[in-house]
Amino acid sequence: MLKKIPLRIRFTLVASLFLLVSCVTLTLLSNVSAAHMMKAVTVVPAMDENSTPILPLEPAEPIGNAYYQVFQQKTVIATVFIVFVGSVATYFAAGYVLKPIRDLSNEVQRRNIENLGEPIALPQSADEIRQLTISFNQMMTDLQKSFLLQKEFSANAAHELRTPLTVMRAKLDVFALSERQNPETQEMVTAMSLQLERLSKLIEDLLWFSKDLPLEKTSPVPLYPLLCDVAEELSGVAGEKEIKIQIEQTKCFVLGQDNLLERVFYNLLENAVKYSPPQTVISITFRQERDFLKVWVADQGEGIPEDYRNTVFEPFFRVDQSRSRTVGGSGLGLAVCKKILERHHAKIMVRANQPCGSIFEIIFSS
Ligand code: ADP
Repeated sequence: MLKKIPLRIRFTLVASLFLLVSCVTLTLLSNVSAAHMMKAVTVVPAMDENSTPILPLEPAEPIGNAYYQVFQQKTVIATVFIVFVGSVATYFAAGYVLKPIRDLSNEVQRRNIENLGEPIALPQSADEIRQLTISFNQMMTDLQKSFLLQKEFSANAAHELRTPLTVMRAKLDVFALSERQNPETQEMVTAMSLQLERLSKLIEDLLWFSKDLPLEKTSPVPLYPLLCDVAEELSGVAGEKEIKIQIEQTKCFVLGQDNLLERVFYNLLENAVKYSPPQTVISITFRQERDFLKVWVADQGEGIPEDYRNTVFEPFFRVDQSRSRTVGGSGLGLAVCKKILERHHAKIMVRANQPCGSIFEIIFSS
């Protein structure tokens, strides 16, 4: 139970307990010894000039008891006071002593994928906290190195795979056009083309995901023409399913990089088409507010269960592996969207549409 309490409180509780035990023991001992002293002390009555006792000797015992009781009360009050003041002082002292740990913990919490390599400033003291900070910085540097290496590896691998894949696709296209084919070969060529198509998409997504995607040239990007272009690109697949893409006319624009923003809306609209049944509508609407612009991409598809509405933005996550296998895709599309939008200081989230489907909401701060 004690382990769940913050370190500062735990430290205060233990110190207070120790103080309480010490004070109570001390009080008991002093009271016992006072009681012994009381028995040993003979009360000598006060005398006047004629050596006549001012008080009679008989009440000596009760007077001694009264002093003893006062002594007892005072020691109890002193014990309570010392324990209380000691506990409060310990609480503040613990705060002071634990401050470097708190600072270190705050710094560690601030670390994310973006600032992994940024070292934490070393404290002035030459104690364990300094050593811990040095070890943590070292660990973060190693981690960032391996992270960059991994990223570079996937980017290079994706890049290297691109060329042979393009050649294979071209050869297969030529082969598909040849007339000397029996139905079995035709079937095989179609299946291979489909798989090659999926592989190319996966490689493209992987390339996008492993890129650093810095904003090279930002400019005000008008959203309406950009979305119309994306819808035009997807008109073939949408047309096959008789899906209508409606885009609200708007003069809104976003400060950013047009090819990256195009990729975001391409991925969102492609998903909306992929995961919607035929003869449905996909709508894109906007709301410009004082400090931000909201863009909604709504579909009437099968929707995303509430439990997965955050995880769908993680790389390689797919709600239904078997369903995704039939519709294609790599599980990287939304992760790429999130990454690009983060570069634009924008947020993306998803909620349920009524009566069915999903609404992807993007918030650009202006
Ligand atoms: P994928 O390439 O599999 O589409 P994404 O990262 O684009 O990868 O999407 C991740 C998962 O989120 C998808 O596999 C799918 O299960 C779900 N998803 C994305 N968009 C939608 C949508 N509009 N409707 C329903 N499910 C969706």
